[in-house]
Amino acid sequence: MIGLRTKKHIFFDLDDTLWDYQHNSDKVLRELFAEYALNEKLRCGVKEFLEEYKRVNLLFWSLYGKGKLDKIALREQRFQETFKRFNYESKEDGDALTQTYLARAPKGRQLKQGCLETLSYLKRNYTLHIITNGFKEVQGIKIDSGGLRNFFDCIIVTEEHGFNKPDERIFRVAEQLTGAQTKDCVMIGDHLENDVYGAKNAGWDAIHLDNEGTAEFNGVCIRELPELKNWF
Ligand SMILES: [Mg+2]
Repeated sequence: MIGLRTKKHIFFDLDDTLWDYQHNSDKVLRELFAEYALNEKLRCGVKEFLEEYKRVNLLFWSLYGKGKLDKIALREQRFQETFKRFNYESKEDGDALTQTYLARAPKGRQLKQGCLETLSYLKRNYTLHIITNGFKEVQGIKIDSGGLRNFFDCIIVTEEHGFNKPDERIFRVAEQLTGAQTKDCVMIGDHLENDVYGAKNAGWDAIHLDNEGTAEFNGVCIRELPELKNWF
């Protein structure tokens, strides 16, 4: 499609688009499950724990996105809420897991398949940026752990600007910071609402990295990053 080759600025989401959040997070959660003997405390297997934590985390992020939960609560109550669902209560363990998880998970180095080669390819002809909804204390660590920093001109952590994706205002902030015109911008991300519809609503083009294979977006979809070479 010629339309995308005329773009000048390519904006990427970070978590589960470039940096493999699922892999890096699960690895640390498995370690914590063993270190804190959660099989005995929660009376469940590690797989059930991972699935329940994921459900709680998604729910909390969605409440945070709607302004119904603040950052402190999101960060500090995810483990306690997961515990509760297995009829276990311990603020002490909840706090300990929170601290260890936040210190360890952002240091994960696993990137999405083909990430570095695709970024190298795109960087030859386009200016690359990141827009991420994560927290400023951890997103920079993830970017450095993955060796990603040098690919990007502008790294926008939405928290620092007061608006999260999909709020149209964060896309306007991105245009101002990069000096880009609306017509020259394309957003690539795994989150349909935040990345894809958010960008479209702001007048940008968008590509969905369809990690789960849902094929829900009727625009440009890719399953792996190297497919971007077909579009740019
Ligand atoms: Mg994401």
